[in-house]
Amino acid sequence: MATLVDTHCHLADPAFAADVGEVVAQMGPAGVGHAVVIGETPERAERVLELVDRYPGLSATAGLHPHEARRWTPDLAAWLVRIAADPRIVAVGEMGLDYHYDHSPRDQQRAAFEAQLDLARDAGKPAVIHAREADDDVAAVLEAHPRTVAIMHSFSSGPDLLRRAVALGHYVSLSGMITFKSWALDEAIRAVPLERLLVETDAPYLAPVPHRGKRNQPAFVTETARRLAAVVGKSLEEIAAITTANAVAVFGARVVPRSTL
Ligand SMILES: [Zn+2]
Repeated sequence: MATLVDTHCHLADPAFAADVGEVVAQMGPAGVGHAVVIGETPERAERVLELVDRYPGLSATAGLHPHEARRWTPDLAAWLVRIAADPRIVAVGEMGLDYHYDHSPRDQQRAAFEAQLDLARDAGKPAVIHAREADDDVAAVLEAHPRTVAIMHSFSSGPDLLRRAVALGHYVSLSGMITFKSWALDEAIRAVPLERLLVETDAPYLAPVPHRGKRNQPAFVTETARRLAAVVGKSLEEIAAITTANAVAVFGARVVPRSTL
């Protein structure tokens, strides 16, 4: 069985404070050989780097979540430029626009998003994109920054944003949402080239069926891969090989799963 990569989880979240070591230990037996751990604020990113140093099979990202965009300053930008050069950091983000919660004013969300896209391009790293109820603006910003490689994380936006992201050559990462009864985007997913598909948990959120309602964890990404395989008419083995190769292509050799080394 090819080994899976969970391309997006929040192991620095307080939900894992008590047992993160056990959670990481459960990845291997489940067939999950690597996880990209998101550092969505400076504080979280520093904690993620501690985890990366402590546990094999983890990589980090660093960036500023749209909820926190009001914190974007020249000092924060300088911090992000510095940390983005670290080889343990495989992507910048998550960043983007969230008009559902509007925790930060929209003009500040947009400024932080655009600055981070440029910063990711300059660092030679992909950008992890959070988009919620902001499809048109996210698409327009991405189209204005075509030289940054983007990963549309936990994709659940409309088919128009999907089409425009795919046209730019971006990656589409599916979470446990594709196992939910309410999921209605199978047709749109089948239009994504296989070489642009990734899988993730977004743990501790969005646990896939049959774990729905529980705390999510990287080991559960297998359920998302199983469902994605059914959507695109592949075996689990094939979709594991495809999505892991894609993860290595976009994040680099650091995310090669340990058991395939
Ligand atoms: Zn996330």
